This record gives sequence, structure tokens and C-alpha cells, in this order.
Amino acid sequence: MAKMTLDDKLGVDRFKVDEHNAHIIVDETYNNIDEINRLIMACPAGLYSYNDGKVDFNYEGCLECGTCRVVSLGKVIKSWSYPRGPLGVEYHHG
Ligand code: SF4
Repeated sequence: MAKMTLDDKLGVDRFKVDEHNAHIIVDETYNNIDEINRLIMACPAGLYSYNDGKVDFNYEGCLECGTCRVVSLGKVIKSWSYPRGPLGVEYHHG
């Protein structure tokens, strides 16, 4: 059996996206690049990026691990909560 890559493993999870309520709110204008880079490196799903002077974030692939909350609440992260049930990530083994 071939070894699964991280993308393979993430690909078997299911996401029920709350299209009307983001469960994580970011400050797109935050401009401390060291703090932003720390957040980019910390998110295991790779959901943060910095483009044209703005923080880009897409909550749709969130794994609900809470890492960004620990790293940057009150800085880039303005608010963090779990998605409303039964929405959010649903883990599956490959
Ligand atoms: S909770 Fe985890 S997966 Fe979701 S955005 Fe934060 S660091 Fe990324």
C-alpha cells in the first residue's frame, strides 16, 4: 500500500461549510509581517497568505485545530470560534 501524503489525508476529510458565517475573523489590514509569517507557518491547512499588503484567509478548509487562535488571537485573529453544529470539518481515515 502506497504511503499517503498530507494532501491525500486532507483530501478524504469532508467540510460542511457555513457559507453565511465565518467562524474565524481576521484583521486583513494587520501589517506586522513577522506575526503574519508566524501564522502562515503555523496553520497546518495552509489557509493563510499575505498578498499585496493584505492578509488572505479562507476558512472553508479549516481543520478546527485552534493553532491560529493560540498563535495570534488579538493580533491577526480578531475572533475565533468553532463552526455552528453540525457544520465544519468531518474527519475520515483514508
Ligand atoms: S484552526 Fe487550525 S486549520 Fe483552522 S485556520 Fe486556524 S490554524 Fe488553520
